[in-house]
Amino acid sequence: MAKEDYEIIIGLEVHCELSTKTKIFCSCPTEFGGTPNTHCCPICMALPGTLPVLNEKVVEYAVKAGLATNCEITRNSKNDRKNYFYPDLPKSYQISQFDLPLCYDGYITIETEDGEKEIQIERIHIEEDAGKLNHDEYGRGSFVDLNRAGVPLIEVVSRPDMRSSTEVESYMRKLKSIFEYIEVSDCKMQEGSLRADVNVSVRKKGTDKLGTRTEMKNMNSFRSIVRAIEYEAERQIEVIENGGTIIQETLRWDDISRKNFFNER
Ligand SMILES: [Zn+2]
Repeated sequence: MAKEDYEIIIGLEVHCELSTKTKIFCSCPTEFGGTPNTHCCPICMALPGTLPVLNEKVVEYAVKAGLATNCEITRNSKNDRKNYFYPDLPKSYQISQFDLPLCYDGYITIETEDGEKEIQIERIHIEEDAGKLNHDEYGRGSFVDLNRAGVPLIEVVSRPDMRSSTEVESYMRKLKSIFEYIEVSDCKMQEGSLRADVNVSVRKKGTDKLGTRTEMKNMNSFRSIVRAIEYEAERQIEVIENGGTIIQETLRWDDISRKNFFNER
């Protein structure tokens, strides 16, 4: 079968840093950059005995984002711990939302070649950002910078409604313009304020069952998102055409070599 006999299915998890003045659970500034470890306190450094206090503005901004994307707003919400170990996450868990997101069942309308199309939004939840690891280029080690730890994020989870890299680009651009317009985020992609985890799978046209998907995390430029989707869809089609199976995994896109790599993390 040829490439044209396949359909590409794409879903996005978009992380967007909220432009509140202070972090989600403490009064440290959210300002980008700064000398490492100067925008932090015992709470966002997760020292023992500290307790998070939710920043009301974060909830307000997230609800605003939900209303602007036609979501239902929950009356009953809570935060949950998502446990994972990584050096840039001092608590070893991220405070996020699991089963009761603030906003759910929304949609936005995008322009496509065939006219307008609705992309469904499954949920928008609030969570804290992690710190950053700076890897020393001379191999002397890695340095942890916790300035970003505790910066508020919303995660916007779409349904797998997109069928091409062009649709993904219009969806991202639309979200970006909405969030800029309602002033909940500066959406600076080069500073990581807006970044996407991209889920891609392929299936033969005319079938209903979703194929196995792979994920590319933390993509922060339209150009690399488009390239990565096209590369990944072609790779998956080739694997299937050669009788192989797609393994569900996280891949790392490299924009220099324009290839996907299997992630070491
Ligand atoms: Zn703090």
